[in-house]
Amino acid sequence: TIPVICLDGPTASGKGTVAAALAQTLGYAFLDSGALYRITALAAIRAGLALEASAEAEIAALVRHLDIRFEAEQVWLNGENITTAIRTEEAGMNASRVSGLPAVRTALVALQHSFRCLPGLVADGRDMGTIIFPQAPLKIFLTASAEARAQRRYQQLIAKGDSANMSALLADLQERDARDMSRSVAPLRPAQDALLLDSTHCTAHEAVQQVLAWWQQ
Ligand code: C5P
Repeated sequence: TIPVICLDGPTASGKGTVAAALAQTLGYAFLDSGALYRITALAAIRAGLALEASAEAEIAALVRHLDIRFEAEQVWLNGENITTAIRTEEAGMNASRVSGLPAVRTALVALQHSFRCLPGLVADGRDMGTIIFPQAPLKIFLTASAEARAQRRYQQLIAKGDSANMSALLADLQERDARDMSRSVAPLRPAQDALLLDSTHCTAHEAVQQVLAWWQQ
């Protein structure tokens, strides 16, 4: 069987950075499941669909025809480079909206499974350990305080040359957390056998070292 390491946790917890570094270090494939929800939302908007239950079946049907490619840190949708388009705060909010639709989540299961390959996979998301890869031998739930996460998001935006507002970011993040945790399908929570890693006071590098130590145990 192919080993899978699951990294789940709330938005801006540093999962993406930690998961990518881990995949690189181990030479494993990397699944950024959040990107799949962001891409789905973008494709739905472009198809003129509302990001709500009334369009659930249509969005789910659209997922089955997405031509997505991840290549050298770039993301392509139907031949178009959408790397920056899916990384905005708005794209994150839209992803959170479509991710609450059960049929959309179901439609994305097979696509997520298809990322498994030898020698292994690092899967980053919200429900990797609970729903998508429940048999995975290592599941990490990465957290950090909301303030620390808003601070990190702020630094990322400023570094990109975008404008950012700390209190707006914190409010958005808390709104997204609340929606991700309270929804009826795949609510954000640690798998029963997940190890908790709080990165409020540690660097991404330290978090990676901790996960590697657990993996090598
Ligand atoms: O991780 P990222 O911020 O890119 O995810 C965007 C949104 O997609 C999240 O806020 C969450 O609502 C949703 N998501 C999800 N399940 C996943 C990954 C992301 O519901 N496995």
